[in-house]
Amino acid sequence: MISAEGSSSTIRAKLDPEFENNLDKFFAYQNYYEGHCNLDPLYYHGFLDENFGDIYAWFNVKDDLLVFGTGIKVGNKIKPYLEKFQRFLEENHDMKLNKMVRKASCIGYNMCSTNQFYLGKDNILLVGESAGFLNMFGEGISSALSTGLLAGNAVCGSFRSGKNAASSYNDAAQKEMKYTSTSWKLAERMAGRKVI
Ligand SMILES: Cc1cc2nc3c(=O)[nH]c(=O)nc-3n(C[C@H](O)[C@H](O)[C@H](O)COP(=O)(O)OP(=O)(O)OC[C@H]3O[C@@H](n4cnc5c(N)ncnc54)[C@H](O)[C@@H]3O)c2cc1C
Repeated sequence: MISAEGSSSTIRAKLDPEFENNLDKFFAYQNYYEGHCNLDPLYYHGFLDENFGDIYAWFNVKDDLLVFGTGIKVGNKIKPYLEKFQRFLEENHDMKLNKMVRKASCIGYNMCSTNQFYLGKDNILLVGESAGFLNMFGEGISSALSTGLLAGNAVCGSFRSGKNAASSYNDAAQKEMKYTSTSWKLAERMAGRKVI
């Protein structure tokens, strides 16, 4: 079986409750507004100032909408951080908000930033965010696709060779794990603190 359940995986929790209980959770939230801002729309902007969140705050433009948000440890309140960040963008980057179009949020885990990937057990393989693949830019689509492919190949290979699929998948996913952890280490080096 291949589990691609996203960050909150019931299969992961059932396979290893102790591992699950030792993970820290974070909450990420972002607003989508029509409006204007003088930050370069071609870049994803990260703000590592602790006043804006426990992890980092971000601003980018997607489909002509201003998208800004922040991440906090579960248990902390997001509103004071987000208000400070919004004020910062308004005062320093000429952000003017018109209509709110959408808001979105998600729960994540510190697997990605602490190198605690969980690739599965016995005949159950985990891919994508359920295995811990999410890079520091909040991007998880490409690693979900690539680890899904690696797991599928490992299963097909095991039918042909008789080799254990979990072990082949583990070998094949090393590069993706390194890429993910390196992105978080870079964020921590720039911030001068742990980010999750
Ligand atoms: C607001 C927001 C914006 C994002 N923007 C980007 C972006 O621009 N670029 C990028 O790369 N990433 C982005 N991400 C992250 C990206 O969406 C995820 O990292 C990626 O989708 C993870 O893929 P996945 O296949 O592991 O899990 P998911 O895409 O989360 O899919 C898991 C699926 O499994 C289902 N499921 C869960 N449990 C079970 C179960 N027990 N049985 C059956 N089905 C189950 C869920 O309903 C869901 O459909 C964003 C995330 C959010 C929340």
